[in-house]
Amino acid sequence: MKLTDLNRYGGVGASSMLVELGGARILIDAGLHPKRSGRDATPDLRLLEQRPPDLIIVTHCHLDHLGSLPLVVRQCPNVPVLMSVPSQLLAERLLRNSVNVMKREREEKSAFDLPLYTMAEVDATVARIVPMLYGQPRKLSVGHDDVEITFFPSGHVPGAAGVQLAHKHRTFFFTGDVQFDDQRLVGGAKFPSKRFDVVVTETTRGATERDSGKDRASEVARLIRTIDHVIGRGGSVLIPVFALGRMQEIFLLLHEARLTKKLPPVPVFAAGLGMDLGDLMDDVAKKTGLCHFTRAVTKELKVKPPPRKLTPGREPGEKGIYVLSSGMLVENTPSYAMAASLLGHAANAICFVGYSDPDTPGGRLLAARKGETFVFDALQFQTPVRCSIERFEMTGHADREELLEFALHGEPRQIVLTHGDPPARAWFAEQIAGADSKVRVLDPVPGQTYEL
Ligand SMILES: [Zn+2]
Ligand SMILES: [Zn+2]
Repeated sequence: MKLTDLNRYGGVGASSMLVELGGARILIDAGLHPKRSGRDATPDLRLLEQRPPDLIIVTHCHLDHLGSLPLVVRQCPNVPVLMSVPSQLLAERLLRNSVNVMKREREEKSAFDLPLYTMAEVDATVARIVPMLYGQPRKLSVGHDDVEITFFPSGHVPGAAGVQLAHKHRTFFFTGDVQFDDQRLVGGAKFPSKRFDVVVTETTRGATERDSGKDRASEVARLIRTIDHVIGRGGSVLIPVFALGRMQEIFLLLHEARLTKKLPPVPVFAAGLGMDLGDLMDDVAKKTGLCHFTRAVTKELKVKPPPRKLTPGREPGEKGIYVLSSGMLVENTPSYAMAASLLGHAANAICFVGYSDPDTPGGRLLAARKGETFVFDALQFQTPVRCSIERFEMTGHADREELLEFALHGEPRQIVLTHGDPPARAWFAEQIAGADSKVRVLDPVPGQTYEL
């Protein structure tokens, strides 16, 4: 197998790998870098100019895996795109939202290379999608090379898949983004326990030590207690979330807490993409049974839209639980504006439930101390940190020990590291090198082709 990482900057960026098995070329994922903009946020697609791939696989619908897909389809218009059935139901909405976000960015930042693609190109992309069922192989034949492709559920978010490629008695496994634990929204990963020749593993939480006192159930209970306490003292709670996955997971937890009387019936506010994705997940649940979200959840919670206009430093008119994107308080998002309203008032709380990159406003706020001045650059506003800032370990990514165990089982010839910051990859590299085995480890340099 030949493998080239097309993610220009390494880290958790624009996920995209070109895999060559004999004469067959397969592109796995075509993401957009979450912190970069315009062309700079895309994978390096030049390698596809000489010869288009024979197949594109999308592991799941987060934009760091899906967001550049229309650019690949523009460049290689006749290539089929494989994704799971739930991903097929979600992808179009996410890509359309991505066009709208880029259009807004064009106006706000005079970024004239945006949008990178149009709604018509999203249509063309969606038309290329071939749905895949978990556990049911599909064959790709290119000349004398037959590749068998099989998807396995990878937990993480509805539709997420780990991918097995089999070619000439060899098998290669790509974890995609993976969570082995069950979440309320979606069951944990179910990967095959056989031996692979090569395992390509995500490494998102490689730098995060396991905290034995913080399992998912106890963290969920602590979140609900915190919300109850804040509401009780007359405050509001902001929960910054990703629109795909985390928002619906939080709704399910709030709903359950309400039913079991662990939370009083306080108003819940949310809007936008995450609400639409919730509706689509209702379809996913009904058609495939592969996720546990239904429209009844938001209906019974009586979720309503947050106020349209907020003044930094001034609390919103109605107190309650605000479940808003983005998860990392990225500038010019609903959660960023709400944080500027709530942060200076001691009764409130901001509860982080997922990963926040240290360079984002969310990451900076998590590192800030009580009383310190926090600056909202995009709003030209600053305020002392007075409300409580809490973090809960409820991530959609597997912890590093579990992932390492999966990658090492059966002793593959090689483990390839992807989707992680340098310290996270370094931990995996060290552990694999230190394990008593002959397994080799590769942290690929972007753009370089490796023969594995
Ligand atoms: Zn993801
Ligand atoms: Zn990802």
